[in-house]
Amino acid sequence: MSEDFDVLVVGSGIAGLWFALKMADQGYRVGILTKKNQAESNTNYAQGGVACVTSNTDDFESHVHDTLEAGDGLCDETVVRRIVREGPERIKELIDLGLKFSTTETGEFDLGREGGHSERRILHVKDMTGKAIETALLRAIARSRGITVLEHFFAIDLVTNRKVPGGMSDSDEERIVGLYGLDVRANRVCSFTAPVVMLATGGIGQVYRFTTNPDIATGDGVAMAYRVGIPIQNMEFIQFHPTTLYTLGNDRFLISEAVRGEGAILRNLKGRAFMADYHPQADLAPRDVVARAIDAEMKKSGAHHVWLDITHHSEDYLRNRFPNIFRNCQKILGINIADDRIPVVPAAHYSCGGIATNLNAETPMSGLFACGEVACTGLHGANRLASNSLLEALVLAHNGAVSAGQYLAEHAESRLDIPEWLDLGGHDPDEQVVISHNWDELRLAMWDYVGIVRTTKRLERARTRIQNLAREIQDYYWNFSVDARLLELRNLIQVADLVVQCALQRQESRGLHETIDYAEKEAEPVNSSVVRPPVREEARGWGSH
Ligand SMILES: Cc1cc2nc3c(=O)[nH]c(=O)nc-3n(C[C@H](O)[C@H](O)[C@H](O)COP(=O)(O)OP(=O)(O)OC[C@H]3O[C@@H](n4cnc5c(N)ncnc54)[C@H](O)[C@@H]3O)c2cc1C
Repeated sequence: MSEDFDVLVVGSGIAGLWFALKMADQGYRVGILTKKNQAESNTNYAQGGVACVTSNTDDFESHVHDTLEAGDGLCDETVVRRIVREGPERIKELIDLGLKFSTTETGEFDLGREGGHSERRILHVKDMTGKAIETALLRAIARSRGITVLEHFFAIDLVTNRKVPGGMSDSDEERIVGLYGLDVRANRVCSFTAPVVMLATGGIGQVYRFTTNPDIATGDGVAMAYRVGIPIQNMEFIQFHPTTLYTLGNDRFLISEAVRGEGAILRNLKGRAFMADYHPQADLAPRDVVARAIDAEMKKSGAHHVWLDITHHSEDYLRNRFPNIFRNCQKILGINIADDRIPVVPAAHYSCGGIATNLNAETPMSGLFACGEVACTGLHGANRLASNSLLEALVLAHNGAVSAGQYLAEHAESRLDIPEWLDLGGHDPDEQVVISHNWDELRLAMWDYVGIVRTTKRLERARTRIQNLAREIQDYYWNFSVDARLLELRNLIQVADLVVQCALQRQESRGLHETIDYAEKEAEPVNSSVVRPPVREEARGWGSH
């Protein structure tokens, strides 16, 4: 099967949906590929809200300052200023679409406060902001003409004109012409052609054993872009959320930073509030500081968790302000957070690095765009300020749509047919057990060796493990039929290697990257970057195997 669109969007979180709506508004035929149900995304789980200057007591300078402070010298100030300034316009558009942010009794926005912010500026819909945004966007998509949503379609690899026989002469520049996608339910690979592809595939949390991210967060977009030679930046900056609910399983339910914004105190198992020992802002210190402090307290005492204490608020207040958290703590652990302290631990949460793009979501490859968590724009630098990611996705998807519209006006006719996917057929009988074993091995190695505090020796140990896994999985990829689990593992391995490569490059401790071997900060901050040398045989569609 082969399908043709003007624009292909990979991903149906805030970035992909917002971009798709804006492309459809310009009259283009848009196809959205999404690998599970359309609502399944990191966006859907976002709790705290969107950071944006809307109050009279707040100002752009203050938001810029807080973002730069968190980013620890690596933010691109021009990018920060533009995103902060363009935020209010995008928020207004979201409201026009039907989103209702929580308000006070007097009708003003009920602005939340989170770690690292010097003002209350977080717009939220109670503690289910992401779900409200995802629902509003999906409703608008359903109303929009010209958008086809392909659920359970897994984007495998991008295709450029270089990879189409006769598609690129010596004088042509390399450009995107489409991609291969696995129809997961029918178990067959289809080709999709379009002059514009937007990668909006979200984060990479699943590369770690413990993560707040849902199953979809396997870094597919980063891996796909890397395979066509796009530079990947700053992957060492993985944000570990300090407070996720401690349970014995792998899933980590997030306890939003907004809980500390409303006065919750972190205590060690003896009940002592410890954050003032680590930072002048105590419990409202930036995330990396809080995550490292918890890690240090746990290592010191051998405890498996610390406590988060919000018992100074009434049950009525907590049920109303944090209905989702209240319910889940009760459901998962049987505790009432108005009476009981919450056991919490850090978990992998957000990737500040990703596909290098400019402010228009453009990558160095013609026709290829990226936005949302998959991209690295320069906003977050070495550490993301809480609630800046939804803001970034809104602004970049909008700018990307303007730029992609201009690109299409010039390249609408430049379409190429993509060769059929080479289906080799057959499964190795050992395949499933090997794949699930390798998933676990990879995620554990990343957790143990590439976690909150690093050393060069541990990073190198992780690299060796990753390279072994890569060899094994490449063998499966090239010799048997593909399925989603195998494709995800292939991407996770690629992304894990990128995280480690970037971490080894950075011989200093900065922002989210702390290494015992280089405890100091370099005087001149630089971005880390990994670029793949040109390759011609990364997908199976052009008979190269
Ligand atoms: C628990 C939690 C709470 C958070 N709270 C906040 C918050 O309060 N404020 C804030 O600013 N940020 C928050 N974040 C971060 C924020 O939610 C994400 O960074 C943001 O939603 C990412 O949006 P996105 O559109 O880039 O990706 P996502 O929303 O993750 O969407 C990615 C989409 O791509 C699809 N996809 C991935 N790979 C493929 C493939 N190969 N083929 C087809 N489809 C694919 C997925 O299925 C999904 O539809 C939170 C994150 C989590 C996990």
